[in-house]
Amino acid sequence: MSRLLSKLSGGQPVASAPVSVDAHSLDPQRSAEMLAGFEAADIGWFWESDAAGRLTYLTDSAIAAIGAERDALIGSELTQFLATGDSDDLDSTSRPLKFRLASRSPISRLNVTVQTSQSKEIWWEISATPRRDANGEFAGFHGTARDITKSLAQSRDSERAAQFDSLTGLANRLRMARKLDQTLTAFKKSKRSCAIMLLDLDRFKKVNDTLGHPAGDELLKQVATRIKKLLGDHGEIGRLGGDEFQILLPDMDDRGDLGDLSKRLVQMLSQPYSVEGSRAIIGCSIGIAVAPYDGIESSELVKAADLALYAAKDAGRGTYRFYSSELSQNADWRQRIEDDLRDALTQQQFLIQYQPIVDAKTHKIASLEALLRWEHPERGRVSPADFIPVAEELGIINKIGEWVLEEVCTQLSKCPPEVRAAVNVSPIQFASEDFYDTVDAILNKTGVDPARVELEITESVFVGDLERTLKLFKKLKKRGVRLSLDDFGTGYSSLSYLRDAPFDKIKIDQSFVRGCSADDNNNSALVSAIVSMARALKMETVAEGIETKDELAMVKGHGATHLQGYLFSGPISIDELLDRFDSKELEFKPRGPEKYRAERRTEFRKIGVIHGDSRYNVFLRNLSKTGARIEGLLDVPVGTDLVLDLGDGQLAVATVRRSEGFSQGVEFETKLISDGDRGLCTRHRVSPYQIEAAGRPLGALTNSAVAAYTTGSQSVPRAFVEVDMNAYNRR
Ligand code: C2E
Ligand code: MG
Ligand code: MG
Repeated sequence: MSRLLSKLSGGQPVASAPVSVDAHSLDPQRSAEMLAGFEAADIGWFWESDAAGRLTYLTDSAIAAIGAERDALIGSELTQFLATGDSDDLDSTSRPLKFRLASRSPISRLNVTVQTSQSKEIWWEISATPRRDANGEFAGFHGTARDITKSLAQSRDSERAAQFDSLTGLANRLRMARKLDQTLTAFKKSKRSCAIMLLDLDRFKKVNDTLGHPAGDELLKQVATRIKKLLGDHGEIGRLGGDEFQILLPDMDDRGDLGDLSKRLVQMLSQPYSVEGSRAIIGCSIGIAVAPYDGIESSELVKAADLALYAAKDAGRGTYRFYSSELSQNADWRQRIEDDLRDALTQQQFLIQYQPIVDAKTHKIASLEALLRWEHPERGRVSPADFIPVAEELGIINKIGEWVLEEVCTQLSKCPPEVRAAVNVSPIQFASEDFYDTVDAILNKTGVDPARVELEITESVFVGDLERTLKLFKKLKKRGVRLSLDDFGTGYSSLSYLRDAPFDKIKIDQSFVRGCSADDNNNSALVSAIVSMARALKMETVAEGIETKDELAMVKGHGATHLQGYLFSGPISIDELLDRFDSKELEFKPRGPEKYRAERRTEFRKIGVIHGDSRYNVFLRNLSKTGARIEGLLDVPVGTDLVLDLGDGQLAVATVRRSEGFSQGVEFETKLISDGDRGLCTRHRVSPYQIEAAGRPLGALTNSAVAAYTTGSQSVPRAFVEVDMNAYNRR
């Protein structure tokens, strides 16, 4: 035992190699005494086993601690009362004690459970060194042991706290991330798939704000319970923080099933909740991505699910959305806008178009709305709806707004003096300290009559500092400019604000004008109410976005004083306007359809068609769950089987049902399914593992994933003639 002591006296746990002690350093008598003292202090215990693995010695207090009988214990096999256990459920890879002993190598700080007759769980940490007899033969082990039951329980508790969400008991972000990493790494080897869903609660913040945080917490618990109930033991559920949840679904890649599950989740989470005596209603949006199709590594997959979640929210919330490579392209495009927008001003890529606003009685130009356009060198014309929010985020909207106002004032001086122009003002511009001074300076610089300038402001300005807003309104009115309230009815206006704010004009948002004659909405009643209210407040009314004759009749019937919309004219260039002023053509005749028709989704994109060994390029014109119309192949006989490559590894087997010239109607063998938004997708996709097996590197699917390996052999004659549809469509 003296050798043991030398190791323990250093305060270190037993080292991992057998150590022999210099016999002169400690006489046997003293070492035995020290050993006894150590044992008596109950800091640690000693044990010894023989070559057959039987216990030959164990400190008395250790035997007492486990409530065993000395005679029964000594002589029994170590593995009969000690076992390596599952002390950490994330890492249960420790090898059984039996193997560790059989290998006859040192054991260092191994956690073992102690089998006792009592029901309580006891954990020891043991270390051991192999012993040799005089002949150098293995003679068993000697070692130490200490009780770690308490500290293990504590570390398990803190480990649990670090890995689980205390509110809902679900796995937390850290644990979900680890779990996803481990799953994907293992599944890559075994060529399995794994889906993740990202859930975000809609309107949760509102519950938190109105009912208070304790109610919000209670709601989150109920949400967790509902998700658990629906999923049962399928998959792992986690709360990533706030109102964001994640679900991991191993071996799920059927998008039909995933869509069904998402639909049920959305439905179930949208049922009313009862929290602290109040009723709360929230919704849920879900983004779905599947490995290896949408990402191989966890970061890639999570990003894909994130993009899908954004798309689901964009689609109006309360829905799910599958990831597709198109979403990445949109995100890249958004990044590109950010990068290029800063230079757009200096590169002179902005221009202004003017949309006429006509008098409701005469249909003659009453004023113009200046609409900003960005002529992107590669992308062409980018809509302000796409770049104005980015400019606001980047903090460059003030500069852009300043440019617009100066440009419009300058161009106004070329128009007849009775012509007015309206300029859109971002709420951020309006909130900036020097907004008034900027307007004032531009008016002075260009010398334009302020009464010819109208500022279009949206209702969101009422959300900020109301007192300041009203003061600024008064100051601007005093300077002589006109004020108009844009997109009325979509924001936060309260009638009392309107009474106090000196607007000259209210613009009725196009959403109230659109489809006003359809039976399923009360747009007509709303337009009527807005017009009468404006009349009472002595304000003009512009009906925005008039596209059809029945919309025109409705808004005129309710007495809107001014009209704007494609039915009269879209935005036009300053040169075209000046020509009209020159030739005194001030009237715009309504030109357009009689009635509004809900927009049909006509597809118009290039896809691939695979037939035999050949791949063709065609245009997809119509797409429904059951079939499609394609254009680009000449005289394909009815009954021909084709495979449509819809991109992103989506192959749809189809049969030609109608064929006329270069246009074919095809029927799918298996129905397409909804992508959660307005799009359609296939249930299954070509697996990246299959593509890998065909000799390509493993990677997430891209739009041209299949095209790359189905280009076909050039030597086989092609069955059909491909028409150059690009040339045809240009005509
Ligand atoms: P807005 O101020 O409500 O402008 C009306 C939008 O409706 C314009 O879109 C216009 O082209 C479009 N429109 C006009 N008639 C019709 C119609 O009959 N049918 C349909 N469907 N649309 C019609 P645009 O030019 O894309 O501008 C979008 C928004 O971008 C504007 O909405 C405005 O909020 C903002 N914006 C435009 N120019 C500027 C600007 O210089 N500064 C700021 N801050 N925002 C601007
Ligand atoms: Mg406007
Ligand atoms: Mg508007």
